[in-house]
Amino acid sequence: MRCILLLLDGLGDRSHSVLNDKTPLQAAHTPNLDKIASLGMNGLFHAHLQGTALPSELAHFLMFGYRMEEFPGRGVVEALGEGLDIREGDVALLARIFSVAKEQEALLVRHENPDLDRQSCRVLQKAVQTFTRHGIEAEFLPTRGIGGILRLRGNVSRFVTDSNPITEGRPLMEVLPLRARSDDPCALNTARFLNDYLRWSYRTLSEHALNRKRIHEGLPPVNAVATQRAGRMAGLPSFADKWGLRGLLIACGALYHGLGRVVGMETRKVKDTDDPGGDLRKRLEIAYRATEYDFIHVHTKVTDEAGHTGNPLLKKRMIEAIDTALAYAIDTIVPDDDILFVVTADHSTASSGTMIHTGETVPLVMTGKYIRRDDTDKFDEVSCAAGGLNLVRGKELMYLILNFLDRGKLWGLMDSPDDQPFTPGTSTPLRVD
Ligand SMILES: [Zn+2]
Repeated sequence: MRCILLLLDGLGDRSHSVLNDKTPLQAAHTPNLDKIASLGMNGLFHAHLQGTALPSELAHFLMFGYRMEEFPGRGVVEALGEGLDIREGDVALLARIFSVAKEQEALLVRHENPDLDRQSCRVLQKAVQTFTRHGIEAEFLPTRGIGGILRLRGNVSRFVTDSNPITEGRPLMEVLPLRARSDDPCALNTARFLNDYLRWSYRTLSEHALNRKRIHEGLPPVNAVATQRAGRMAGLPSFADKWGLRGLLIACGALYHGLGRVVGMETRKVKDTDDPGGDLRKRLEIAYRATEYDFIHVHTKVTDEAGHTGNPLLKKRMIEAIDTALAYAIDTIVPDDDILFVVTADHSTASSGTMIHTGETVPLVMTGKYIRRDDTDKFDEVSCAAGGLNLVRGKELMYLILNFLDRGKLWGLMDSPDDQPFTPGTSTPLRVD
């Protein structure tokens, strides 16, 4: 038996007066999702703790049964997704170049998204590409636009604060060691190195010919690098070793391919078109045919992107478009006794307020021959709360999947030196002459 997990990114939301105080999912006409709810076991899901707002890659990482403290950081995940050279022990930070204005001794963010063509982005990135000091070597590795990854190599620590305040008008921040590491020489040295790099970058970029030309033309100089979310590349047990399942991740976007590399899961690249329902149907078809895998993660980002527009009506329409693809699941996937079909989301992306993602739970449904069917017949953030799964957290999800695949191990049995939660484990036969 195998599992197909459909993840509707950022699906959860808040109530909106424009939708008669319903969430976009409650307000949307979703006959197929509702049918799946009526055939399944339902509940609510949060990848970590209720109320905590998680970025997608971290929420996915926790859903796959890894621990928060094992997370290598978004910089590492993005770098691997972009095919950049990141090795075990490297620290990777998200880095951007933008406009700052010096006021007294502070550098205030003026434009976080400067209007620059591709060639100008590369010229500025090259100007601050390499920097070596205090036994640490930094390299700015461009990704998209003016963004990139700042890779640190040497005796480096990930336990340092951000320098990017994200919000325009706020000052760039001094990098400090995290409180718990304030006496750690490696964290102190890494923070000192980053502050030196940021000061050097500001001076270098401010004097750059491209910025002199911009100032001459009345444009703001693009003159400072800022960093956030330091992470460290470290070896992790693969998804297959951890759960006994050969995993495949079907998604659009480098971030998810990087995540696949972090957890040792194969990835299939797909592209979004202007037909989100058609795109998702094709992904479900690929998943259904991929019988060589035991766990297939099917991802769509359109629900999250609709939430980020702040328009609940648009999100409702996107959910309705997605629902059309689920007709295929009802006809083909759900009736197949060899499949556990799961639909959920990684986090909520509210169409109101100022938070990037939000901390509310998301709905969850599981269908398969070993589930315990409940009375829920509508798939949304409120109806699913009455279902038989109650509240499921990230650290429980993979155990539930093993259970409903009928692959869970009786706790305490040790058929391998690692306490693997699945059966049969990677046991060694006793040999006799
Ligand atoms: Zn997400």
